[in-house]
Amino acid sequence: MSEILKDIPSVDSIIKSDKTERYLSLYPRNLIIKAIREVVQSIRNGILKGTIKSREEIYQTIYPEIEKVLRDMSGFSLRRVINATGVVIHTNLGRSNLSERAINNVINIAGSYSNLEYDIEEGKRGRRDIHCIKWLKEITGSPDAFIVNNNAAAVLISLNTIASGKEVIISRGELVEIGGSFRMPDVMRLSGAILKEVGTTNKTHLHDYRNAITENTGLILKVHTSNFRLSGFVKSVEIEELVNLGKEYNIPVMYDLGSGCLIDLNKHGIQGEPSVIDVLRSGVDILSFSGDKLLGGPQAGIILGKKELIDRIRKSPLARAVRIDKLTLSALEATLFDYLDPENAIEKIPTLRALLDKPENILKRAKKILRLMLKKRGFASMKTIGRNLTAVKSDDVIAYAGLIEDYSQAGGGALPEINLKTYVVALRPRKISLNHLIKRLQSQNPPVVGRVKEDLLILDARTISEREIKSLVESVFNALF
Ligand SMILES: *Cc1c(COP(=O)(O)O)cnc(C)c1O
Repeated sequence: MSEILKDIPSVDSIIKSDKTERYLSLYPRNLIIKAIREVVQSIRNGILKGTIKSREEIYQTIYPEIEKVLRDMSGFSLRRVINATGVVIHTNLGRSNLSERAINNVINIAGSYSNLEYDIEEGKRGRRDIHCIKWLKEITGSPDAFIVNNNAAAVLISLNTIASGKEVIISRGELVEIGGSFRMPDVMRLSGAILKEVGTTNKTHLHDYRNAITENTGLILKVHTSNFRLSGFVKSVEIEELVNLGKEYNIPVMYDLGSGCLIDLNKHGIQGEPSVIDVLRSGVDILSFSGDKLLGGPQAGIILGKKELIDRIRKSPLARAVRIDKLTLSALEATLFDYLDPENAIEKIPTLRALLDKPENILKRAKKILRLMLKKRGFASMKTIGRNLTAVKSDDVIAYAGLIEDYSQAGGGALPEINLKTYVVALRPRKISLNHLIKRLQSQNPPVVGRVKEDLLILDARTISEREIKSLVESVFNALF
């Protein structure tokens, strides 16, 4: 054994060999050395355990292993994923895809200097917070606007500026957790505001708010219950009524809209999501929403409303801590530009496009996915009888695939009750388990994330774009073997 151990080449000789030369143009040198060390160690372990028994075996393993380890080591952590879940605004999968105009503008701004904080006409220092404001005012009619890193930051800086040390009245039915670590009561505590909950979980009346007003009330806050809906014996107070109450007592009213839709979804048959423009018309003092939910842009928090309040927020010491980056600004500005014509926005902004896609378009993509799959070796068609799938047995079959009608979700804490009619490719693996298939799909390149329905893997064509279809089919095929 010790003889074979001596046959392991030294790290130094491996790095000097012809075979590693190619790596040097592809990977950083220290990464190559690290990979070589790792492989040498694992070969040594192999010899000691008796799995590697000869000089030949050492040389057969060493270079392919180095290559593999290098590839694993240098893989980026943030990668493309195919979203086959049908959840349009999938927070875990990066929420919104950018429009073409937004992508091009990011590329344009990312690679060069810009007037991020420079006034070109005056030839002197300018302000970061003027970008995008023109479009936001134009689209929403808001008197002023301020943009921060995300909506959580927008809520935090607003509460801190307007109501630190003062009471903020909020309905118990709206003390929501958005997901991750964003819980309304926690954010409020962090902002220095004092939580004053009113009403009950299911019912809050206007008089509950009125009775809670004291000398120390700093703000009345309404929060969109984004990701859940109460139904049955429920009552909440409309923003208009809160605005009137606020006026009566001279207390500002804020609405955390969460998603923040800039178009009227009612016109497109989707009820229940208030548009930013309508909420502004209610006379609310200030409102905030995300840039990457229904708006379909980059991660951002947008604050709209009265000039006096926004001016104070702008001057907050927190503003620097939650400020927006130039890449985000460039993406957001181009996204907002697409909204100047709402019809154009629906066509050009991927989030809106996926949300409002016509069933016949989705069906077309689902059919194409199925057709390409059935061309592959080992795929067999599941006969669709209504919505029941019956499969034909055959030993060569690795998976059955069929097309069914189903429902997708908006996601991103928007429209939790709305089921969007869609078409999906359903898969039933035959040689491996469903869980195994799901795991393997996650380690493909690109990884595919679908959803499970009973004993089927569902690939929802709503969130799969035309250009992803080929690689989706490849990933599924590779995962099945
Ligand atoms: C999503 C959401 C937030 C947090 O927004 P981010 O942009 O994710 O920071 C805050 N409030 C509500 C009501 C939300 O739906």
